[in-house]
Amino acid sequence: MNSAFRFARQVKRALTGFNRRGVILTYHRVAQPASDPWQLCVSPEHFAEQMEVIARCGLPVALPQMQRNLKRFSVGRKEIAITFDDGYADNLHNAAPILVRYGMPAIFFVVSGALDSRKEFWWDELERLILSPAALPETFDVAMDGVRYCYRIVSKQGAPTREYGQDITDMPPANAELSRLELYYVLSKIISSLASEPKNTALRQISLWANQSPQARSDYLPLAVKDLISLAQNPLFEIGAHTVSHPKLSGLSTVEQETEITRGKRELESILGRPITSFSYPHGSYSDVTVEIVRRARLQVACTIEGRPVSRSDDPFVLPRIIVSNWSGDLFEERLRRWLA
Ligand SMILES: [Zn+2]
Repeated sequence: MNSAFRFARQVKRALTGFNRRGVILTYHRVAQPASDPWQLCVSPEHFAEQMEVIARCGLPVALPQMQRNLKRFSVGRKEIAITFDDGYADNLHNAAPILVRYGMPAIFFVVSGALDSRKEFWWDELERLILSPAALPETFDVAMDGVRYCYRIVSKQGAPTREYGQDITDMPPANAELSRLELYYVLSKIISSLASEPKNTALRQISLWANQSPQARSDYLPLAVKDLISLAQNPLFEIGAHTVSHPKLSGLSTVEQETEITRGKRELESILGRPITSFSYPHGSYSDVTVEIVRRARLQVACTIEGRPVSRSDDPFVLPRIIVSNWSGDLFEERLRRWLA
């Protein structure tokens, strides 16, 4: 390699290093359920290993601090901010004690309408109805929001590829043969775009079809109000807003988006008696209009799920975050070192 070229590459790498601010990590649950179709759970054991790696390899900071330092050049250890989305009760019961043990600051983005609901989030309820029962009818035949969906449920054990997975683009035709897991992803895609009321009706219809009780599982519940208050009392922790009902914001009208964002923020403020200044977009979904509403709502920082490290040039209202899976400490360290490099 010619030496001028090598020098240019070294300069570029050094500048990239200076410009890189750090990493924002996204967690959802610290738990070990029987099935986890979105890979949103980290076991308590792996979570503790990951915190040990962060303490050793990075500079743990609170998200607002990273936002305040965003435009500064980064020298020395890179910053790592820990975030949790949705507001599961296991954040208080399983994650908080481990965070405290390692002195890790964290922010919890909470769906205000789920507090005290004693109901599972819809994607968990759907998992309970489709993936948990010992037996299901052989044919799925349920109308949702005025549209009838018919599929045949077949066992595809050992099938080399899965046609319908987490990122479905084309929906299966009527009477298609689907495994239970494929059916779960197909129904998730349909339900995620419904408004609150049709969403609840669709889940009721599916529970009737599956002949399952509407009973929520205690270890899947969102935070109760008293849980939120005790989480917020710890000086290591902050609470951020994550809307009232966790919709895909970019699919809503301006007025609906405004209501979801400002009411979600206000409900948390009235419970906690302090301003809420951070936000994360449910499903990572936003448009230019969404960002403008977030700015006007006097929020100071907002996070997406665009999976990459944070740079000085990033807009504080669309900060990228990396979703962490149930990786062992070693696997997590390998990835973290790559993101921080
Ligand atoms: Zn969420």
